[in-house]
Amino acid sequence: MDMLIGGKHISSDDLEDVINPYNGEVIDTIPIAHLQTANLAIGEANNAKESLVEMSAFKVSNKLFNVVEKLKDNREDFAEQLTLEIGKPINESLVEVDRSIETLKLAAEEAKRIYGESVPLDAGLNGKGFFAFTQRLPLGVVAAITPFNYPLNLTIHKIAPAIACKNTVIVKPPTEAPLTVMKFCELLNEEFPDGVVNTITGYGSEVGDYLVCSPDIDKVSFTGSVTTGLMISQKAGMKKVTLELGGNDPMIVLKDADIDKAVKGVINGAFLNAGQVCMGVKRIIVEDEIADEFAEKLVGETEKLVMGNPLDVKTTLGTLISEKAAIHVEQTVNNAVQKGAEILTGGVREGAFYQATVIDNVTPDMDLVVRETFGPVAPIIRVNGVEEAIEIANDTDYGLQAGVFTNDYSLAMKCAQEIEAGTVFVNKQSTFRTDNMPFGGFKNSGVGKEGIKYAVDDMTRMKLIGLNLR
Ligand code: NAP
Repeated sequence: MDMLIGGKHISSDDLEDVINPYNGEVIDTIPIAHLQTANLAIGEANNAKESLVEMSAFKVSNKLFNVVEKLKDNREDFAEQLTLEIGKPINESLVEVDRSIETLKLAAEEAKRIYGESVPLDAGLNGKGFFAFTQRLPLGVVAAITPFNYPLNLTIHKIAPAIACKNTVIVKPPTEAPLTVMKFCELLNEEFPDGVVNTITGYGSEVGDYLVCSPDIDKVSFTGSVTTGLMISQKAGMKKVTLELGGNDPMIVLKDADIDKAVKGVINGAFLNAGQVCMGVKRIIVEDEIADEFAEKLVGETEKLVMGNPLDVKTTLGTLISEKAAIHVEQTVNNAVQKGAEILTGGVREGAFYQATVIDNVTPDMDLVVRETFGPVAPIIRVNGVEEAIEIANDTDYGLQAGVFTNDYSLAMKCAQEIEAGTVFVNKQSTFRTDNMPFGGFKNSGVGKEGIKYAVDDMTRMKLIGLNLR
Protein backbone atom coordinates (compact mmCIF):
# COMPACT_ATOMS: atom_id res chain seq x y z
CA MET A 1 0.00 0.00 0.00
CA ASP A 2 1.39 3.42 -0.95
CA MET A 3 1.74 6.53 1.19
CA LEU A 4 -0.71 9.39 0.79
CA ILE A 5 1.04 12.76 0.45
CA GLY A 6 -0.69 15.89 -0.81
CA GLY A 7 -3.52 13.70 -2.12
CA LYS A 8 -1.16 11.61 -4.27
CA HIS A 9 -0.05 8.02 -3.80
CA ILE A 10 3.68 7.83 -3.36
CA SER A 11 5.98 4.82 -3.14
CA SER A 12 9.71 4.34 -2.59
CA ASP A 13 12.53 2.28 -4.08
CA ASP A 14 12.75 0.54 -0.72
CA LEU A 15 9.88 -1.65 0.33
CA GLU A 16 9.11 -3.73 3.40
CA ASP A 17 6.69 -6.61 3.91
CA VAL A 18 3.93 -6.40 6.48
CA ILE A 19 3.70 -9.83 8.08
CA ASN A 20 0.72 -11.59 9.66
CA PRO A 21 2.14 -12.72 13.02
CA TYR A 22 -0.28 -15.67 13.16
CA ASN A 23 0.95 -17.51 10.06
CA GLY A 24 3.99 -15.56 8.86
CA GLU A 25 2.31 -14.70 5.54
CA VAL A 26 2.98 -11.40 3.79
CA ILE A 27 -0.20 -9.30 3.90
CA ASP A 28 1.05 -6.35 1.92
CA THR A 29 4.15 -4.28 1.23
CA ILE A 30 4.82 -0.69 2.30
CA PRO A 31 7.30 1.90 1.07
CA ILE A 32 10.22 2.75 3.31
CA ALA A 33 10.46 6.50 2.88
CA HIS A 34 13.56 8.58 3.43
CA LEU A 35 14.18 12.24 4.20
CA GLN A 36 13.28 13.59 0.74
CA THR A 37 9.78 12.12 1.09
CA ALA A 38 9.51 13.42 4.64
CA ASN A 39 10.26 16.89 3.28
CA LEU A 40 7.61 16.46 0.62
CA ALA A 41 5.03 15.53 3.29
CA ILE A 42 6.04 18.51 5.45
CA GLY A 43 5.68 20.82 2.44
CA GLU A 44 2.25 19.46 1.45
CA ALA A 45 0.93 19.64 5.02
CA ASN A 46 2.08 23.25 5.31
CA ASN A 47 0.58 24.15 1.91
CA ALA A 48 -2.79 22.72 2.96
CA LYS A 49 -3.05 24.74 6.19
CA GLU A 50 -4.97 27.60 4.63
CA SER A 51 -7.59 25.36 3.02
CA LEU A 52 -8.52 24.07 6.45
CA VAL A 53 -8.37 27.40 8.28
CA GLU A 54 -10.76 28.87 5.72
CA MET A 55 -13.27 26.06 6.21
CA SER A 56 -16.09 26.81 8.66
CA ALA A 57 -16.31 24.79 11.86
CA PHE A 58 -19.73 23.69 10.62
CA LYS A 59 -18.16 22.18 7.50
CA VAL A 60 -15.23 20.58 9.36
CA SER A 61 -17.67 18.96 11.75
CA ASN A 62 -19.93 17.69 8.95
CA LYS A 63 -16.98 16.25 7.06
CA LEU A 64 -15.78 14.42 10.16
CA PHE A 65 -19.32 13.05 10.60
CA ASN A 66 -19.18 11.85 6.97
CA VAL A 67 -16.00 9.92 7.79
CA VAL A 68 -17.80 8.41 10.80
CA GLU A 69 -20.38 6.99 8.38
CA LYS A 70 -17.68 5.70 6.03
CA LEU A 71 -15.91 3.93 8.87
CA LYS A 72 -19.21 2.43 10.03
CA ASP A 73 -19.85 1.14 6.50
CA ASN A 74 -16.42 -0.53 6.48
CA ARG A 75 -16.46 -1.75 10.10
CA GLU A 76 -15.83 -5.44 9.35
CA ASP A 77 -13.12 -4.79 6.74
CA PHE A 78 -11.20 -2.55 9.10
CA ALA A 79 -11.47 -5.09 11.93
CA GLU A 80 -10.20 -7.89 9.71
CA GLN A 81 -7.28 -5.75 8.59
CA LEU A 82 -6.36 -5.06 12.23
CA THR A 83 -6.47 -8.77 13.08
CA LEU A 84 -4.33 -9.70 10.09
CA GLU A 85 -1.57 -7.24 10.91
CA ILE A 86 -1.51 -7.53 14.71
CA GLY A 87 -2.86 -11.00 15.52
CA LYS A 88 -5.56 -9.46 17.73
CA PRO A 89 -8.70 -11.63 18.13
CA ILE A 90 -11.38 -10.50 15.70
CA ASN A 91 -13.86 -9.63 18.46
CA GLU A 92 -11.29 -7.28 20.03
CA SER A 93 -10.61 -5.73 16.62
CA LEU A 94 -14.31 -5.04 16.19
CA VAL A 95 -14.29 -3.30 19.58
CA GLU A 96 -11.31 -1.21 18.47
CA VAL A 97 -13.17 -0.15 15.31
CA ASP A 98 -16.29 0.66 17.33
CA ARG A 99 -14.22 2.78 19.70
CA SER A 100 -12.57 4.47 16.72
CA ILE A 101 -16.01 5.40 15.41
CA GLU A 102 -16.89 6.91 18.80
CA THR A 103 -13.58 8.80 19.01
CA LEU A 104 -14.20 10.26 15.59
CA LYS A 105 -17.76 11.24 16.55
CA LEU A 106 -16.48 13.00 19.68
CA ALA A 107 -14.08 15.00 17.49
CA ALA A 108 -16.84 15.86 14.99
CA GLU A 109 -18.87 17.22 17.92
CA GLU A 110 -15.90 19.03 19.47
CA ALA A 111 -15.17 20.81 16.16
CA LYS A 112 -18.17 23.04 16.96
CA ARG A 113 -17.05 23.85 20.49
CA ILE A 114 -13.65 25.45 19.99
CA TYR A 115 -13.94 28.87 21.50
CA GLY A 116 -12.28 31.21 23.97
CA GLU A 117 -13.68 33.35 26.76
CA SER A 118 -13.95 36.99 27.69
CA VAL A 119 -11.30 38.11 30.18
CA PRO A 120 -11.99 40.86 32.74
CA LEU A 121 -8.83 42.95 32.38
CA ASP A 122 -10.31 45.39 34.90
CA ALA A 123 -9.46 42.81 37.57
CA GLY A 124 -5.83 43.83 37.07
CA LEU A 125 -4.09 47.13 37.74
CA ASN A 126 -4.88 49.73 35.02
CA GLY A 127 -7.11 47.27 33.13
CA LYS A 128 -10.30 49.30 33.42
CA GLY A 129 -11.96 50.21 30.15
CA PHE A 130 -10.81 47.22 28.13
CA PHE A 131 -12.86 44.54 26.49
CA ALA A 132 -10.71 41.44 26.02
CA PHE A 133 -11.31 37.93 24.80
CA THR A 134 -9.32 34.82 23.92
CA GLN A 135 -9.38 32.72 20.79
CA ARG A 136 -8.12 29.17 20.29
CA LEU A 137 -6.14 28.99 17.06
CA PRO A 138 -4.68 26.00 15.23
CA LEU A 139 -0.98 25.32 15.63
CA GLY A 140 -0.35 24.43 11.99
CA VAL A 141 1.04 20.97 11.25
CA VAL A 142 0.77 18.08 13.72
CA ALA A 143 3.00 15.02 13.37
CA ALA A 144 1.19 11.95 14.74
CA ILE A 145 3.56 9.10 15.55
CA THR A 146 1.77 5.96 16.72
CA PRO A 147 2.34 2.43 18.07
CA PHE A 148 1.29 -1.02 16.89
CA ASN A 149 -1.03 -2.20 19.66
CA TYR A 150 -4.19 -0.11 19.02
CA PRO A 151 -3.07 1.53 15.79
CA LEU A 152 -6.45 2.69 14.55
CA ASN A 153 -8.04 4.17 17.65
CA LEU A 154 -4.82 5.66 19.01
CA THR A 155 -4.08 7.33 15.69
CA ILE A 156 -7.63 8.69 15.46
CA HIS A 157 -7.07 10.14 18.96
CA LYS A 158 -4.50 12.38 17.27
CA ILE A 159 -5.76 12.97 13.72
CA ALA A 160 -9.38 13.68 14.62
CA PRO A 161 -8.86 16.39 17.26
CA ALA A 162 -6.05 17.88 15.13
CA ILE A 163 -8.40 18.33 12.18
CA ALA A 164 -11.32 19.36 14.43
CA CYS A 165 -9.27 22.40 15.45
CA LYS A 166 -8.00 22.90 11.89
CA ASN A 167 -4.47 21.55 11.94
CA THR A 168 -3.12 19.51 9.06
CA VAL A 169 -1.53 16.18 9.90
CA ILE A 170 1.34 13.91 8.94
CA VAL A 171 0.82 10.40 10.27
CA LYS A 172 3.79 8.11 10.81
CA PRO A 173 2.22 4.72 11.60
CA PRO A 174 4.12 1.80 13.18
CA THR A 175 6.17 -0.15 10.63
CA GLU A 176 4.89 -3.48 11.93
CA ALA A 177 1.19 -2.54 11.64
CA PRO A 178 0.66 0.43 9.30
CA LEU A 179 -2.13 -0.74 6.99
CA THR A 180 -5.36 -0.05 8.90
CA VAL A 181 -4.23 3.49 9.65
CA MET A 182 -3.24 4.11 6.03
CA LYS A 183 -6.63 2.82 4.88
CA PHE A 184 -8.37 5.15 7.32
CA CYS A 185 -6.42 8.16 6.06
CA GLU A 186 -7.69 7.38 2.56
CA LEU A 187 -11.25 7.81 3.88
CA LEU A 188 -10.35 11.16 5.43
CA ASN A 189 -8.74 12.31 2.22
CA GLU A 190 -12.00 11.72 0.34
CA GLU A 191 -13.57 14.45 2.49
CA PHE A 192 -10.81 16.99 3.10
CA PRO A 193 -8.58 18.97 0.69
CA ASP A 194 -5.37 17.29 -0.45
CA GLY A 195 -2.55 17.64 2.05
CA VAL A 196 -4.79 17.96 5.12
CA VAL A 197 -3.92 14.38 6.01
CA ASN A 198 -0.73 12.71 4.86
CA THR A 199 0.84 9.35 5.65
CA ILE A 200 4.50 8.52 5.66
CA THR A 201 5.84 5.02 6.19
CA GLY A 202 9.45 4.30 7.00
CA TYR A 203 11.52 3.78 10.07
CA GLY A 204 10.78 5.79 13.17
CA SER A 205 14.48 6.29 13.74
CA GLU A 206 14.75 7.98 10.33
CA VAL A 207 11.53 9.67 9.14
CA GLY A 208 9.97 9.79 12.63
CA ASP A 209 13.06 11.46 14.00
CA TYR A 210 13.12 13.89 11.06
CA LEU A 211 9.54 15.00 11.75
CA VAL A 212 10.35 15.46 15.44
CA CYS A 213 13.34 17.70 14.67
CA SER A 214 11.79 19.67 11.79
CA PRO A 215 11.16 23.39 12.46
CA ASP A 216 8.23 23.17 10.02
CA ILE A 217 6.26 20.84 12.27
CA ASP A 218 4.32 22.63 15.00
CA LYS A 219 3.45 19.76 17.28
CA VAL A 220 4.50 16.17 17.86
CA SER A 221 1.80 13.94 19.26
CA PHE A 222 3.44 10.63 20.12
CA THR A 223 2.18 7.38 21.57
CA GLY A 224 4.69 4.61 22.18
CA SER A 225 7.46 3.42 24.45
CA VAL A 226 9.20 5.43 27.16
CA THR A 227 12.54 4.98 25.41
CA THR A 228 11.31 6.62 22.21
CA GLY A 229 9.31 9.22 24.13
CA LEU A 230 12.37 10.36 26.07
CA MET A 231 14.32 10.71 22.84
CA ILE A 232 11.52 12.79 21.30
CA SER A 233 11.30 15.08 24.31
CA GLN A 234 15.01 15.81 24.00
CA LYS A 235 14.90 16.56 20.29
CA ALA A 236 11.61 18.39 19.70
CA GLY A 237 12.92 21.85 20.55
CA MET A 238 10.31 24.60 20.97
CA LYS A 239 7.40 22.74 19.41
CA LYS A 240 4.55 21.41 21.53
CA VAL A 241 4.81 17.74 22.46
CA THR A 242 2.30 15.26 23.84
CA LEU A 243 3.76 11.95 24.99
CA GLU A 244 1.49 8.99 25.76
CA LEU A 245 3.96 6.37 26.95
CA GLY A 246 4.16 2.97 28.55
CA GLY A 247 2.61 1.82 31.79
CA ASN A 248 3.31 -0.64 34.58
CA ASP A 249 -0.14 -0.43 36.10
CA PRO A 250 -0.82 -1.90 39.53
CA MET A 251 -4.01 -3.59 40.62
CA ILE A 252 -4.38 -3.64 44.40
CA VAL A 253 -6.71 -6.32 45.80
CA LEU A 254 -7.43 -5.77 49.49
CA LYS A 255 -8.67 -8.55 51.78
CA ASP A 256 -12.30 -7.36 51.84
CA ALA A 257 -12.54 -7.14 48.04
CA ASP A 258 -15.03 -8.96 45.84
CA ILE A 259 -12.55 -11.58 44.67
CA ASP A 260 -14.59 -12.74 41.67
CA LYS A 261 -14.85 -9.16 40.44
CA ALA A 262 -11.10 -8.65 40.85
CA VAL A 263 -10.34 -11.91 39.03
CA LYS A 264 -12.55 -10.79 36.15
CA GLY A 265 -10.61 -7.52 36.14
CA VAL A 266 -7.33 -9.38 35.73
CA ILE A 267 -8.65 -11.55 32.90
CA ASN A 268 -9.54 -8.46 30.95
CA GLY A 269 -6.65 -6.35 32.22
CA ALA A 270 -3.71 -8.71 31.82
CA PHE A 271 -4.76 -10.75 28.78
CA LEU A 272 -6.60 -8.30 26.50
CA ASN A 273 -4.71 -7.95 23.21
CA ALA A 274 -2.31 -10.62 24.55
CA GLY A 275 -1.25 -8.21 27.28
CA GLN A 276 -0.03 -5.59 24.79
CA VAL A 277 -1.94 -2.71 26.35
CA CYS A 278 -0.31 0.41 27.80
CA MET A 279 -2.86 0.49 30.64
CA GLY A 280 -2.83 -3.30 31.06
CA VAL A 281 -2.73 -4.82 34.54
CA LYS A 282 0.97 -5.48 34.91
CA ARG A 283 1.36 -5.94 38.70
CA ILE A 284 -1.30 -7.59 40.87
CA ILE A 285 -0.70 -6.62 44.48
CA VAL A 286 -2.79 -8.89 46.71
CA GLU A 287 -3.18 -9.03 50.48
CA ASP A 288 -1.68 -12.31 51.66
CA GLU A 289 -4.79 -13.43 53.57
CA ILE A 290 -6.79 -13.82 50.36
CA ALA A 291 -3.95 -14.49 47.91
CA ASP A 292 -4.40 -18.30 47.77
CA GLU A 293 -8.10 -18.08 47.01
CA PHE A 294 -7.52 -15.24 44.54
CA ALA A 295 -4.75 -17.17 42.72
CA GLU A 296 -6.80 -20.36 42.50
CA LYS A 297 -9.78 -18.56 41.01
CA LEU A 298 -7.56 -16.61 38.65
CA VAL A 299 -5.95 -19.81 37.35
CA GLY A 300 -9.40 -21.33 36.77
CA GLU A 301 -10.58 -18.34 34.71
CA THR A 302 -7.28 -18.00 32.84
CA GLU A 303 -7.45 -21.59 31.67
CA LYS A 304 -10.79 -20.86 30.00
CA LEU A 305 -9.13 -18.52 27.48
CA VAL A 306 -9.00 -19.90 23.95
CA MET A 307 -5.72 -19.43 22.09
CA GLY A 308 -5.98 -19.84 18.33
CA ASN A 309 -6.53 -18.31 14.92
CA PRO A 310 -7.27 -14.63 15.64
CA LEU A 311 -9.84 -14.56 12.83
CA ASP A 312 -11.89 -17.26 14.57
CA VAL A 313 -14.66 -15.67 16.66
CA LYS A 314 -14.07 -18.22 19.44
CA THR A 315 -10.47 -17.07 19.94
CA THR A 316 -9.90 -14.96 23.04
CA LEU A 317 -6.08 -14.94 23.04
CA GLY A 318 -4.25 -14.06 19.85
CA THR A 319 -0.56 -13.74 19.04
CA LEU A 320 1.88 -11.09 20.09
CA ILE A 321 2.99 -8.65 17.41
CA SER A 322 5.92 -10.92 16.45
CA GLU A 323 7.79 -14.04 17.49
CA LYS A 324 10.61 -11.79 18.66
CA ALA A 325 8.22 -10.05 21.09
CA ALA A 326 6.97 -13.44 22.35
CA ILE A 327 10.54 -14.64 22.93
CA HIS A 328 11.22 -11.52 24.97
CA VAL A 329 8.20 -12.21 27.20
CA GLU A 330 9.26 -15.87 27.57
CA GLN A 331 12.76 -14.84 28.67
CA THR A 332 11.43 -12.30 31.17
CA VAL A 333 9.10 -14.87 32.77
CA ASN A 334 11.85 -17.53 32.87
CA ASN A 335 14.15 -15.06 34.52
CA ALA A 336 11.55 -14.41 37.27
CA VAL A 337 11.16 -18.18 37.79
CA GLN A 338 14.92 -18.53 38.23
CA LYS A 339 14.68 -15.91 40.96
CA GLY A 340 11.94 -17.76 42.86
CA ALA A 341 8.61 -16.93 41.22
CA GLU A 342 6.23 -19.80 40.50
CA ILE A 343 4.21 -20.31 37.29
CA LEU A 344 0.69 -21.45 38.24
CA THR A 345 -0.53 -21.82 34.66
CA GLY A 346 0.83 -21.02 31.18
CA GLY A 347 4.47 -20.17 30.64
CA VAL A 348 4.77 -21.80 27.22
CA ARG A 349 5.53 -20.08 23.91
CA GLU A 350 4.53 -21.37 20.47
CA GLY A 351 5.88 -19.11 17.69
CA ALA A 352 4.35 -15.66 18.23
CA PHE A 353 1.86 -17.04 20.77
CA TYR A 354 2.55 -16.94 24.49
CA GLN A 355 0.11 -18.75 26.77
CA ALA A 356 -1.89 -16.72 29.26
CA THR A 357 0.33 -17.00 32.31
CA VAL A 358 -0.32 -16.55 36.02
CA ILE A 359 2.85 -16.28 38.06
CA ASP A 360 2.86 -16.14 41.86
CA ASN A 361 5.37 -15.10 44.54
CA VAL A 362 6.75 -12.35 42.35
CA THR A 363 8.88 -9.82 44.22
CA PRO A 364 9.04 -6.12 43.34
CA ASP A 365 12.71 -6.33 42.31
CA MET A 366 12.12 -8.83 39.48
CA ASP A 367 12.54 -7.48 35.94
CA LEU A 368 9.10 -8.86 35.11
CA VAL A 369 7.53 -6.08 37.20
CA VAL A 370 10.28 -3.45 37.23
CA ARG A 371 9.96 -2.92 33.46
CA GLU A 372 6.80 -2.95 31.40
CA THR A 373 6.20 -6.56 30.33
CA PHE A 374 4.18 -6.35 27.10
CA GLY A 375 2.63 -9.81 27.04
CA PRO A 376 -0.16 -11.99 28.55
CA VAL A 377 1.29 -12.32 32.03
CA ALA A 378 -0.41 -11.82 35.39
CA PRO A 379 2.27 -11.47 38.11
CA ILE A 380 1.04 -11.75 41.72
CA ILE A 381 2.92 -9.84 44.43
CA ARG A 382 1.76 -10.77 47.95
CA VAL A 383 1.67 -8.02 50.61
CA ASN A 384 0.61 -7.45 54.20
CA GLY A 385 -1.72 -4.49 54.46
CA VAL A 386 -2.70 -1.42 52.51
CA GLU A 387 0.43 0.61 53.36
CA GLU A 388 2.73 -1.98 51.80
CA ALA A 389 0.38 -2.29 48.81
CA ILE A 390 0.54 1.45 48.08
CA GLU A 391 4.30 1.56 48.60
CA ILE A 392 4.82 -1.20 46.03
CA ALA A 393 2.27 0.32 43.64
CA ASN A 394 4.30 3.56 43.66
CA ASP A 395 7.69 1.85 43.49
CA THR A 396 7.99 2.29 39.71
CA ASP A 397 9.10 4.86 37.15
CA TYR A 398 5.67 4.64 35.51
CA GLY A 399 2.33 6.18 36.50
CA LEU A 400 -0.29 5.63 33.82
CA GLN A 401 -3.40 4.15 35.47
CA ALA A 402 -4.20 1.96 38.50
CA GLY A 403 -7.04 -0.12 39.93
CA VAL A 404 -8.00 -0.80 43.54
CA PHE A 405 -10.43 -3.51 44.64
CA THR A 406 -12.00 -3.05 48.06
CA ASN A 407 -15.46 -2.49 49.53
CA ASP A 408 -14.12 -0.12 52.18
CA TYR A 409 -14.48 3.36 50.75
CA SER A 410 -12.07 4.96 53.19
CA LEU A 411 -9.35 2.53 52.06
CA ALA A 412 -10.39 3.08 48.45
CA MET A 413 -9.99 6.84 48.85
CA LYS A 414 -6.67 6.42 50.62
CA CYS A 415 -5.34 4.36 47.70
CA ALA A 416 -6.86 6.70 45.11
CA GLN A 417 -5.22 9.72 46.72
CA GLU A 418 -1.83 8.16 47.42
CA ILE A 419 -1.22 6.23 44.21
CA GLU A 420 0.86 8.25 41.74
CA ALA A 421 -1.00 7.71 38.46
CA GLY A 422 -2.96 9.73 35.91
CA THR A 423 -6.10 7.72 36.69
CA VAL A 424 -7.11 5.51 39.62
CA PHE A 425 -10.21 3.34 39.32
CA VAL A 426 -11.96 1.84 42.32
CA ASN A 427 -13.38 -1.65 41.78
CA LYS A 428 -12.26 -1.55 38.17
CA GLN A 429 -8.95 -2.57 36.64
CA SER A 430 -6.67 0.03 35.07
CA THR A 431 -7.48 -1.36 31.65
CA PHE A 432 -10.45 0.89 31.10
CA ARG A 433 -10.83 4.05 29.09
CA THR A 434 -13.68 5.96 27.58
CA ASP A 435 -12.57 8.07 24.66
CA ASN A 436 -13.75 11.36 26.12
CA MET A 437 -11.95 11.10 29.46
CA PRO A 438 -8.64 12.86 30.13
CA PHE A 439 -6.09 10.15 29.52
CA GLY A 440 -2.37 10.41 30.19
CA GLY A 441 0.11 9.33 32.79
CA PHE A 442 2.29 10.74 35.53
CA LYS A 443 6.06 10.23 35.86
CA ASN A 444 7.64 8.44 32.87
CA SER A 445 4.23 7.46 31.50
CA GLY A 446 3.94 10.72 29.68
CA VAL A 447 3.30 14.41 29.25
CA GLY A 448 -0.08 15.93 28.39
CA LYS A 449 -3.53 14.43 28.05
CA GLU A 450 -5.61 12.95 25.28
CA GLY A 451 -9.39 12.41 25.14
CA ILE A 452 -10.73 14.66 22.42
CA LYS A 453 -11.48 17.86 24.35
CA TYR A 454 -8.10 17.66 26.15
CA ALA A 455 -6.22 16.91 22.94
CA VAL A 456 -7.85 19.95 21.31
CA ASP A 457 -6.55 22.12 24.17
CA ASP A 458 -3.06 20.80 23.45
CA MET A 459 -3.41 21.24 19.69
CA THR A 460 -4.39 24.91 19.77
CA ARG A 461 -2.69 28.07 20.94
CA MET A 462 -4.46 30.80 22.84
CA LYS A 463 -4.48 34.39 21.60
CA LEU A 464 -5.81 37.31 23.66
CA ILE A 465 -7.32 40.30 21.87
CA GLY A 466 -7.84 43.43 23.95
CA LEU A 467 -9.89 46.47 22.82
CA ASN A 468 -9.13 49.74 24.58
CA LEU A 469 -12.55 51.36 24.95
CA ARG A 470 -11.40 54.27 27.14
P1 NAP B 1 7.74 2.40 19.89
O1 NAP B 1 8.73 1.37 19.53
O2 NAP B 1 8.17 3.52 20.76
O3 NAP B 1 7.16 2.94 18.50
C1 NAP B 1 6.11 3.86 18.42
C2 NAP B 1 6.23 4.68 17.17
O4 NAP B 1 7.39 5.49 17.25
C3 NAP B 1 6.38 3.86 15.89
O5 NAP B 1 5.68 4.47 14.84
C4 NAP B 1 7.88 3.92 15.64
O6 NAP B 1 8.24 3.71 14.31
C5 NAP B 1 8.17 5.34 16.07
N1 NAP B 1 9.58 5.62 16.40
C6 NAP B 1 10.55 4.74 16.74
N2 NAP B 1 11.71 5.39 16.97
C7 NAP B 1 11.47 6.71 16.76
C8 NAP B 1 12.28 7.89 16.83
N3 NAP B 1 13.56 7.84 17.16
N4 NAP B 1 11.70 9.07 16.57
C9 NAP B 1 10.40 9.15 16.23
N5 NAP B 1 9.59 8.06 16.13
C10 NAP B 1 10.12 6.86 16.40
O7 NAP B 1 6.47 1.73 20.60
P2 NAP B 1 5.68 0.39 20.21
O8 NAP B 1 6.52 -0.79 20.53
O9 NAP B 1 5.11 0.52 18.84
O10 NAP B 1 4.44 0.47 21.20
C11 NAP B 1 4.41 -0.11 22.45
C12 NAP B 1 4.63 0.93 23.53
O11 NAP B 1 3.67 1.96 23.41
C13 NAP B 1 4.43 0.35 24.93
O12 NAP B 1 5.40 0.87 25.77
C14 NAP B 1 3.05 0.85 25.31
O13 NAP B 1 2.82 0.89 26.69
C15 NAP B 1 3.05 2.20 24.68
N6 NAP B 1 1.68 2.68 24.49
C16 NAP B 1 1.25 3.79 25.22
C17 NAP B 1 -0.06 4.21 25.11
C18 NAP B 1 -0.57 5.39 25.87
O14 NAP B 1 -1.57 5.97 25.44
N7 NAP B 1 0.04 5.80 26.97
C19 NAP B 1 -0.93 3.55 24.24
C20 NAP B 1 -0.45 2.46 23.52
C21 NAP B 1 0.86 2.04 23.64
P3 NAP B 1 8.74 2.24 13.82
O15 NAP B 1 7.57 1.34 13.97
O16 NAP B 1 9.15 2.46 12.42
O17 NAP B 1 9.88 1.86 14.71
